[in-house]
Amino acid sequence: MTETVVTLATDADENVRAVPVVLRPAHHGARSPQRLHVARSEMPNEGPLVDTFGRIHTDLRISVTDRCNFRCTYCMPDEGIEFAPTSDLLTLEEITRAAKVAKQLGVRSVRLTGGEPLVRKGIVDIVAAIAEIGFDDVAMTTNGTSLTRLAPSLASAGLRRVNVSCDSLRPDRFAAIRRRGQLAMTLAAMDAAEDAGLLPLKINVVLLTGENDDEVYDLVEFGREKNRFVRFIEFMPLDADGNWQRDRVIAGADVLAMLEERYDLVALDGGGDDHAPATRFAFSDGIGEVGFINSVTEPFCGTCDRLRLMADGSIRNCLFSDDELSLRDVMRSKGSDDQLEQVFRASVWGKLPGHAINDPSFLQPRRSMSRIGG
Ligand code: SAM
Ligand code: SF4
Repeated sequence: MTETVVTLATDADENVRAVPVVLRPAHHGARSPQRLHVARSEMPNEGPLVDTFGRIHTDLRISVTDRCNFRCTYCMPDEGIEFAPTSDLLTLEEITRAAKVAKQLGVRSVRLTGGEPLVRKGIVDIVAAIAEIGFDDVAMTTNGTSLTRLAPSLASAGLRRVNVSCDSLRPDRFAAIRRRGQLAMTLAAMDAAEDAGLLPLKINVVLLTGENDDEVYDLVEFGREKNRFVRFIEFMPLDADGNWQRDRVIAGADVLAMLEERYDLVALDGGGDDHAPATRFAFSDGIGEVGFINSVTEPFCGTCDRLRLMADGSIRNCLFSDDELSLRDVMRSKGSDDQLEQVFRASVWGKLPGHAINDPSFLQPRRSMSRIGG
């Protein structure tokens, strides 16, 4: 493996922290953050996207719309959400331009999300334009709507893989949690994605106390049977209804303990899933994999390499930070790529060490999940 030592700050400034690191161009473990040697006071004008804690950002989530055809209880309100006017959303050309600048700054993987990315008009063209830029990975998180129709075109356009969200295998519960859509359609979407070669297929599951937490084994067995990787995501305080409560969160550690009663699990490192915050386990019989995204009970902020471009062109350095900078405004006022680069750099430079969900003073962010892009 090629290794490059990068040192940004070379002076003997007392504020300099972290040791110079080895940058591995590919396949660093999910729990092995890349770090740079940085001076707190100076935002670098070259090199990768680094924050004041030395974390290098190589993963970009692009939300292509704030609209969605579902109304999941943990995400959107049932009624009354106001969507951004279409004119506020980045165009295909603007998304592509922003992604190209991000690539020049060292971003290696892109995940398209929303809202529901597949309700965005021209989504196949967006995928094609992003894929053409040459990222190591182009993935999508979707509720599966339209996937039975679009999967082949998305794969031909360069999409590599998808995560399909599905919180229950019981039709009535699925309907109660997601409020729109049908389980059968989501299951058909998974089949279509696999038929189109969008692999490995991952299933995102948000567990909610008393609602679907008795389906852990069923979901895991379903995943093992179909060779789909289940990801249990802790419920985060990003629901539009503001109904998040700690006792509604099922801790990933508890789910893991349950699974360990029944299965022999083997911890995996980052493997090919370089930037995933998930803690991953294989089953010792070689069938399947399960992952945990324990954002609430075991924050992984120290290893976060993620940046978000929202549908309206704002850059956000953390799901839980309301600090945003607009790339759209720079682009629409005829700003240069150098100026866009500075906006990316400034956003990353302003990143805090971690979210404060577990702090008593925590306030739920202004935007809910569908308006940020999960
Ligand atoms: N609409 C697509 C979907 O549902 O897959 C993509 C966008 S959605 C915001 C991305 C992911 O965020 C989904 O897997 C969803 O389950 C998850 N999500 C939404 N709200 C959440 C919350 N409050 N806590 C944890 N995960 C959440
Ligand atoms: Fe829509 Fe996805 Fe949010 Fe559900 S989780 S309301 S499908 S954006």
